[in-house]
Amino acid sequence: MAKEELECSFCGRKKPETSLLIAGLDAHICDRCIEQAHGIVLEESKQSDNSELSAELMLRKPLQIKEFLDEYIIGQDMTKKVMSVAVYNHYKRLLQSPSKDDIEIQKSNIMMVGQTGTGKTLMAKTIAKMLNVPLAIVDATVLTEAGYVGEDVESILTRLLQAADYSLEKAEKGIVFIDEIDKIARKSDNPSITRDVSGEGVQQALLKLLEGTTVNVPPKGGRKHPDQKFIEVNTENILFIAGGAFDGIERNISKRLNMQAVGYSASKSDDIIDQNHLLQYIIPKDLKDFGLIPEIIGRLPVLTYMDPLDAKTLRAILTEPKNAIIKQYEKLFEMDDIEFHITDGALDFIVEKAIEYKLGARGLRSLCEEILTDAMFELPGTDETEIKITKVYAENKLNKTTIKKLKAVS
Ligand code: ADP
Repeated sequence: MAKEELECSFCGRKKPETSLLIAGLDAHICDRCIEQAHGIVLEESKQSDNSELSAELMLRKPLQIKEFLDEYIIGQDMTKKVMSVAVYNHYKRLLQSPSKDDIEIQKSNIMMVGQTGTGKTLMAKTIAKMLNVPLAIVDATVLTEAGYVGEDVESILTRLLQAADYSLEKAEKGIVFIDEIDKIARKSDNPSITRDVSGEGVQQALLKLLEGTTVNVPPKGGRKHPDQKFIEVNTENILFIAGGAFDGIERNISKRLNMQAVGYSASKSDDIIDQNHLLQYIIPKDLKDFGLIPEIIGRLPVLTYMDPLDAKTLRAILTEPKNAIIKQYEKLFEMDDIEFHITDGALDFIVEKAIEYKLGARGLRSLCEEILTDAMFELPGTDETEIKITKVYAENKLNKTTIKKLKAVS
């Protein structure tokens, strides 16, 4: 009897007509049917994305959002609280069905003010991770008005599309973090002297995106691909988070506070101002005085500040967050079956150097790299099963030249 010819149990094609026939328990499937089935799976998962977002949100109330942020970010409690509420409200707005009462919840775009390296980007990244939405991080300093050298403001949305793997639906619910927003402040108080290409003009262009509008976005970005088809992106549901150091803004705040103090409230004893943490008193007017146009400030209604990082915070950053730097090294060594230990003295030493050389939180990682590179190079493949980093070990690895090098990088 001739051997029965194998065929695809889904489409009935005989084995020779297929490029590949995969056998299951009682059935077979051909390459073409696999492809088709894969397409169906993708389509289905796309449709369930929306309900996933709502499920995610319903699970996390502001308190839980803050708890999630606590796992990754040390301190900054005020910003975490404000962020949690803003993000919660923003996504509640997304889930809102058109109501009869005409109450339209407005966007809660956020402005974070604080020195560089205090965790602004980390905050935006963590929120995006929690919500599982795409995140585009852009630097405001590269943006210029359309037609000038530099990147058009629309390039922000190109980045977001890329982060969303070109899923328009996902991009339209994503988060954009605009870093160094203070660098596009108006250079002079008189807006009419000359055209301010990289300042007010960019602010005006950004305004439209923040407001919520439909923008034609070149998916590949830039002007290098003139033939590409534009994609229409609606920014209405995109959450914008802006961050900036606003160097010197404390002076404005201090001036304003002193003027107030001289005024009617001078006699109140509870008005003592904490001169070392002036940012906590920031109000929208301070941003205006710094050179942001009122319309931009209005479109970033949630204003919050980041505390500078002190030694205690830097120390905690080394060991406490879920993916703390030291935990990462432990894992790296563990993969070579080497137990990694570091003494408190060595950790304090690293923090001390980060402060002494003004390297901030970013410097912590570079300092650790300098200290551990030799060990990471030499130990794998040897019989060593343990490494202990002491203060003396760290001191030996970090000499003046290496620190100078780190300073130049940061
Ligand atoms: P910014 O955007 O304010 O300049 P980043 O978010 O880029 O600062 O922070 C730089 C690095 O410092 C981050 O990768 C993070 O590892 C660390 N870092 C800064 N602040 C904190 C913090 N509060 N908690 C945990 N890590 C932090």
